Amino acid sequence: MKSERIDEHIEAVLYSEDAIQRRVGELAAEIASDYAAHGFAKDPEGRPVLLVGILRGALVFMSDLARRFPMAIEIDLISISSYGNGTVPGAVRLVKDLEKPIGGRDVLIVEDIIDTGFTIEYLKRSFAARNAASVRVCTLVDKTVRREMPVDIDYVGFTLEEDAFVVGYGMDYAELYRNLPFIGVLKADCIR
Ligand code: IMP
Repeated sequence: MKSERIDEHIEAVLYSEDAIQRRVGELAAEIASDYAAHGFAKDPEGRPVLLVGILRGALVFMSDLARRFPMAIEIDLISISSYGNGTVPGAVRLVKDLEKPIGGRDVLIVEDIIDTGFTIEYLKRSFAARNAASVRVCTLVDKTVRREMPVDIDYVGFTLEEDAFVVGYGMDYAELYRNLPFIGVLKADCIR
């Protein structure tokens, strides 16, 4: 495994490096214009938009997105995991919280992929309860087929309508493949 090329584990590329980079640029332009020109910023103190990346999948996307913004932004990170014991469907657990309070702040949640919707629904509720001035959501991939919790997503890079498990550009299978610069589907014999 150590010396193998991980791109050889990919069955099909869904979103190429070029396509992702182009789309990230478009998203950043749209988001910047919304906050600057369309009154989406609600912070009474006028502080920069706070990007909240969900660890670890959103790291790669957030670092590219952040560097495309022309305006000042701040960054924080949060880590969530699902209980996964099957007793409470959709129950999620906070693994690492934000560093600072978000009362009065304009928060933009940055996610790699939204699947069932439970993670985003939990975070939106939690951030509203902490009195954020506004909470918006940006996901690179919106995987619509397995949605269980209806969520409003403000910015979507790509809509994935098949029930595919994808890796790359931050997304993992068993903690691997996050460093691929594109997003693809794994070969069946790489899934254990
Ligand atoms: P959900 O929307 O609460 O179901 O969970 C979204 C999280 O599940 C994402 O942040 C990913 O960590 C993970 N996830 C869902 N689908 C995929 C996938 O196709 N590849 C990799 N991770 C995924």
